[in-house]
Amino acid sequence: MATTPEPLQQVAIALGSNLGASRTTLDEALEALDRNEGVRVIRRSSWYRSAPIGPVQPDYVNGCALLEVSLAPEALLDVLQATENRFGRVRAERWGPRTLDLDLILYGAQRIATERLEVPHPRMAERAFVLLPLAEIAAEWIDPVSGRPVAELAAALSDHGGVERLEEGA
Ligand code: ATP
Ligand code: CA
Ligand code: CA
Repeated sequence: MATTPEPLQQVAIALGSNLGASRTTLDEALEALDRNEGVRVIRRSSWYRSAPIGPVQPDYVNGCALLEVSLAPEALLDVLQATENRFGRVRAERWGPRTLDLDLILYGAQRIATERLEVPHPRMAERAFVLLPLAEIAAEWIDPVSGRPVAELAAALSDHGGVERLEEGA
């Protein structure tokens, strides 16, 4: 039986890596995502270097991307997690080092809370390594939790916690 097509949605994801050739991994992860049925990568932010949170580990490369998807939120999470696994993600300690982390940050104007998925991402508003790249590509997007645009959330960050821009977006 054919599944009902979902309406097209604008989605923002955050990417992170701190093991292996991180920048290459992030570029290749976007190419891999774009090859999925129902997922189009529209643009990406610059890549940033950021100091890790959690246990002692190497610095991260982080960034954000805008997608256009015709997948329901949990189906998109499946694609994100399958992509993490393809790039060698091993789930060990919480917030530990990883080859690839793909978080769903915003899904249209929806608020989602299921066992597997909370959107907007519950920690986005406090993370410079999410908000600085996100503000490059989605400055006007209204966070449905605070009702404020991403640019305002980024401007309200108390510090940029060792987050530094590496190169231009695409
Ligand atoms: P953080 O969420 O603080 O960035 P993390 O990315 O290291 O931490 P993971 O170990 O990658 O956390 O994910 C743990 C679980 O979070 C996943 O199995 C997934 O079901 C759940 N999850 C809930 N909301 C989201 C979301 N918006 N994006 C991605 N995963 C989510
Ligand atoms: Ca994460
Ligand atoms: Ca994650």
